[in-house]
Amino acid sequence: MAVGMPGVLDSESADRCMKCGFCMSMCPVYGVDHNESHVARGRNMLIRMARDGGLATDASYRDSLSACLLCGRCEAVCPAGVPSPAIAVGARSKMVRERGLGSSQRLLYRGMVKHRSAFAKLVRGLSWLPGLSNRKGAPVRHFPDVVAAFFGGMSLPRLSAPFLSRRLPQRIPPREGEIVGQVAVFTGCIFEFFLADAGSDMLLFLAELGYEVSYPHDQTCCGLPVLSGGDLDTAQAIAKRNIEIFSRYEHVVTGCASCGGHLKRYESLFGSDDPWKEKAAAFARKVEDFSEFLVKRGHLAPRRREENRRDSESAEKAGGKPRVTYHEACHIKWKQHVDEAQRKILLGIDDIDFVEMEGADSCCGLGGYFGIAHPDLRLAMLAKKVDAIRRSGADIVATSCPGCLLQIMDGLRRENLPVRAMHLAQLVRGGY
Ligand code: SF4
Ligand code: SF4
Repeated sequence: MAVGMPGVLDSESADRCMKCGFCMSMCPVYGVDHNESHVARGRNMLIRMARDGGLATDASYRDSLSACLLCGRCEAVCPAGVPSPAIAVGARSKMVRERGLGSSQRLLYRGMVKHRSAFAKLVRGLSWLPGLSNRKGAPVRHFPDVVAAFFGGMSLPRLSAPFLSRRLPQRIPPREGEIVGQVAVFTGCIFEFFLADAGSDMLLFLAELGYEVSYPHDQTCCGLPVLSGGDLDTAQAIAKRNIEIFSRYEHVVTGCASCGGHLKRYESLFGSDDPWKEKAAAFARKVEDFSEFLVKRGHLAPRRREENRRDSESAEKAGGKPRVTYHEACHIKWKQHVDEAQRKILLGIDDIDFVEMEGADSCCGLGGYFGIAHPDLRLAMLAKKVDAIRRSGADIVATSCPGCLLQIMDGLRRENLPVRAMHLAQLVRGGY
């Protein structure tokens, strides 16, 4: 990935764009709004013009920069190999360095995301208030409204209580028998705060397979939300912290497609003369997606564990076998290129009916800062995804990205669709 010097626009790469337009057929944003300044071809041209002094970096320029999900689809098909997502990030970062961050972004990135333990303490305190968390209490009301203001109107599930790092220790021994290996797990913020059941399933499943699982509680956010907002300095500080924390482990697994795609590209955050570049590259080589880790080591047919079955509602509805469809996260397919692993795993679960949805790899529309800046476009993409889920006739939609899960849960709630959204780790552990 050729980002070039951090914080400096990679003008050489932007100049390689030959305006062929291949990216237009792939771009999910262009697919809903047909606005050429919102697709790689048009944006690359605007960025070059701004760099050369022929275009004001005004509101419409900033609109163009923010209207990219950083999904990587355009880069994957570009015949000239133009790293358009990285170019967009470089341009956002340049804007942030020139103009500074807005107050809400500064609070979110530097006050909350960068100091996750302090943020966790604040949220943990809030989680004791009735109605805010998964503890028994009244339905959630005010807190999601506040959070929704930060996330472009997206409704979030209730906070996990307790958070994941309060449920499981930093070392989880293999459940039984000999140790087959050792692995460290990077969980990510969504598993920690919102989907702790799913995160717990991932960690425990690895232990059940015979791995000694290390779960460092001092890990922090991967930094992708911060980078997508153009705050490269904070993204670098976060990356350094995670690289140091995981330096003592040989294998690092994550169940978050977005985190994984970013962790594997940490190297691109640092300039060629920065000693952190090599450290980041060494770290990235150790990172594997949960599904990739399982498939590479032959864990294709997960052992069914009847005691882990927590809800048979959907199974009964489907006459014994729940019908499961799969949403393919952009950061799995286009950034990590490990998209077949998830299907192999799903096909290895013998008591589900796996059914492909139309456009399984179409973007759900979340995209970090994109979803905040362009809630209308986020919802347009989400509506397409929910419609495909509906037409599949599935009882469950599975994915390997907690971010996509939040987005899809939001869409299912909006449409009142009786389909459950689950992480792959929940399925392999039999929790359906
Ligand atoms: S596919 Fe690549 S070269 Fe073609 S217009 Fe898009 S960015 Fe430019
Ligand atoms: S990264 Fe995705 S959203 Fe951005 S221009 Fe490329 S295809 Fe479109």
